[in-house]
Amino acid sequence: MKANAQVDGDNNLIEPKRAQRNLSVMQLVDAALAGEEGVLTSTGALRALTGEYTGRSPKDKFIVDEPSIRSQIDWNNNKKLAPEYFQRIYAMVMDYVREHDMYVFDGFAGADDKYRVPIRVINQYAWHNLFAQQLFICPTNEELAKHCPQFTVIDIPELKADPEVHGTNSEAFIIISFEKRVVLIGGTEYAGEMKKSVFSVLNCLLPSQGVLPMHCSANVGKDEDVALFFGLSGTGKTTLSADPERFLVGDDEHGWSDRGIFNFEGGCYAKCIDLKEEKEPQIWGAIKFGSVLENVALHPETRVADYADSSITENTRAAYPIEHIPGAVVPGIAGHPNVIVFLTADAFGVLPPVARLTKEQAMYHFLSGYTSKLAGTERGVTEPEATFSACFGAPFLPLSPGVYAEMLGEKVESHNARVYLVNTGWCGGPYGVGRRIDLDYTRAIITAILNGSIEESGFTADEVFNILVPETVEGVPDRLLQPREAWENKEEYDARAADLAARFADNFTKFTDVSKEVRSAGPKTK
Ligand code: ATP
Ligand code: MN
Repeated sequence: MKANAQVDGDNNLIEPKRAQRNLSVMQLVDAALAGEEGVLTSTGALRALTGEYTGRSPKDKFIVDEPSIRSQIDWNNNKKLAPEYFQRIYAMVMDYVREHDMYVFDGFAGADDKYRVPIRVINQYAWHNLFAQQLFICPTNEELAKHCPQFTVIDIPELKADPEVHGTNSEAFIIISFEKRVVLIGGTEYAGEMKKSVFSVLNCLLPSQGVLPMHCSANVGKDEDVALFFGLSGTGKTTLSADPERFLVGDDEHGWSDRGIFNFEGGCYAKCIDLKEEKEPQIWGAIKFGSVLENVALHPETRVADYADSSITENTRAAYPIEHIPGAVVPGIAGHPNVIVFLTADAFGVLPPVARLTKEQAMYHFLSGYTSKLAGTERGVTEPEATFSACFGAPFLPLSPGVYAEMLGEKVESHNARVYLVNTGWCGGPYGVGRRIDLDYTRAIITAILNGSIEESGFTADEVFNILVPETVEGVPDRLLQPREAWENKEEYDARAADLAARFADNFTKFTDVSKEVRSAGPKTK
């Protein structure tokens, strides 16, 4: 195959009318400004607005129902698109590409060269191409010369689907074809769709190579101890992995092979609502030239970002290369995890801020993937609501959750990783009554987990949630560690806790294929 010629699964050449290939950051910023796609902020970042879609649009995401992949995909958890519909939408996309100037980025998904997937991203917008360059892994000049894409993302926000003609849910579409080896995106300008659809692709391709794909952040300590932070959107993966005392591997997506862990990406995508320099100095400092700010309000004259302004959306975002974080690990490769943290943001305020999990409890909570969805990251979510999302990433899992859970169980056991459940959500009462646990307390908890001091505490059993809760953690008031103590109204606490336990049990009934040990490791219902 000729280098640089993009060939899809059917050997069709994908050639834009005119391709602007692998432009520099400077050139892409210039192009974005010239095309009035965005403006520079006071710190030199490029600010773009995404219009109607300010978060991912899971209802508009499809996998094409193709013979070679059909039996592998978990269709309970993925929407199928019939090949006839896909052909039509693919033809429309290809016509557009052939008739327009497009920006093209060539790079990789996966920092470990044994497992990385060469990808191409073809964009209508320069700012989306800049996002791709910052979020994915950039090739060296030698790598670029030999680059041969295995998967291509074609992202054309201007192009809209017609549900009648294309079988989509709306005019927006995010469609993965494993046979054509393409991801087609249209109708939405939210840049995060690009990174999360490539994540979905890796979640499908890597397990058969013995690599566990994970929706988690990762960092490394001075002693090369590795920590993973799993969690659904808004639970703190990006925030807590940016730790001045440790080295960042990645903030969102990693693989775990028999060589250790590796980042899928080369950049970060941080929420920036209410961002404050004192609380999150590393993320604050990363928002400079080359970074992309999505939907952040700016002062009209000074263009100083107003992170407290949620008038556009709660889900404001900053995308930046990982090199913008001091001491980041490049390339993003590290050893086997010593510590695994499951982050959850419990809006009921009944889960303890931290608990130690046995292997079986870890499997139970990994499969459950509980959190309370916070406003903004997904369309239509404006109030927090309880949600269970298998493996803390169900929207990105083409295969059945059991595949990933089994791999995690084996790896946790063979590498002896300690596992904890950390509630970064509410305490002292539910959302509206209590408040979100202070970030400084959560950081103190993470520190105690990482340095092992948490293990020196006594532990008490939480009878409802069936987990062990430490009595003391340095830097955190004892009372806060026991949520029942933190609630004024104990009866209400008991009722809410029982309600959440019942929701766990109810959700878990869908996992028919798990051992008795794992099943009984969950919360206790009356
Ligand atoms: P995504 O998958 O969407 O990228 P994420 O897990 O990376 O989500 P973050 O970007 O870290 O989530 O968002 C956590 C948000 O919650 C941040 O805005 C952070 O400032 C805020 N926050 C408030 N209190 C806490 C806490 N105790 N722990 C963690 N984050 C907190
Ligand atoms: Mn994140």
